[in-house]
Amino acid sequence: MENLIEVKNLNYIYPATEDHPAEQALFDVSFSVKKGEFLGIIGHNGSGKSTLAKLLNAIIMPTSGDVFIAGHNTKDETRIWDIRQTAGMVFQNPDNQLVATIVEDDVAFGPENLGVPSEEIRMRVDEALNTVDMYDFRTKKPHQLSGGQKQRIAIAGILAMAPECIIFDEPTAMLDPFGRKDVMSTIGKLNQEQKMTVLHITHYMTELTNADRIIVLDHGRIVMEGTPKEVFCQVDKLHQIGLDVPQMTELSYALRQKGYDIPADVLTIDEMAESIWHLK
Ligand code: ADP
Ligand code: MG
Repeated sequence: MENLIEVKNLNYIYPATEDHPAEQALFDVSFSVKKGEFLGIIGHNGSGKSTLAKLLNAIIMPTSGDVFIAGHNTKDETRIWDIRQTAGMVFQNPDNQLVATIVEDDVAFGPENLGVPSEEIRMRVDEALNTVDMYDFRTKKPHQLSGGQKQRIAIAGILAMAPECIIFDEPTAMLDPFGRKDVMSTIGKLNQEQKMTVLHITHYMTELTNADRIIVLDHGRIVMEGTPKEVFCQVDKLHQIGLDVPQMTELSYALRQKGYDIPADVLTIDEMAESIWHLK
């Protein structure tokens, strides 16, 4: 499979300001993302996740090293709009992402700026709203929507630009559990049904049990990389860097310490139920 994103020996230093000395936020980060892959990135606050997201979207430029999106270096200014259209980005705060006063106008905003013909925009907007299950809300005002609904409109706005990849920077952090669930099922659907490449940054471990691969950031460095099972079963190491593991993995860890013969890589309630059943 082809790599859609390639990050090579990336370093990023925030320059000094009057109030802050210079600070290195990323250290020699290298990884790639294949077309169609669901890559999760976790790390506690300040580990460099948002800095990485901004570098992927050409909002900031590497201090050294390179980022390639669909083969284009983010340093190539002539490609900046190609890059942002190929890899769309959804941010944490739903209120900062909606620009229009009517939902469907908001979704149309991106393709309008790309100069897409109006007939085609109409089609894209309807399709995007259907994909995120918000078509019935197309004539509503964004302030009438819940946080989760606003996030799904933000996702529709990106989808209407026909990207190959969406980068989510903690899109569920400000949502209630219902909003989180709806946004996560939308993200899962985009990856599984539309084969869209997804890069999902989160601090909720349970959101990554279905990821193809997970990268763990700590103090600006990649400290672990692997499948959800490979990463989450290293409970002690994750705790050391201030991260939780999915609840069922935590439970299996506690049961194992009490001598129960339960696999270390249990991630979901179903897997836990299955393991307990076998204990009988
Ligand atoms: P995360 O998203 O994982 O919480 P960030 O990428 O926001 O982490 O931050 C990584 C590090 O870079 C932190 O130590 C933070 O203080 C620093 N940082 C983030 N944004 C800025 C900025 N605009 N100026 C200076 N330092 C920053
Ligand atoms: Mg962040």
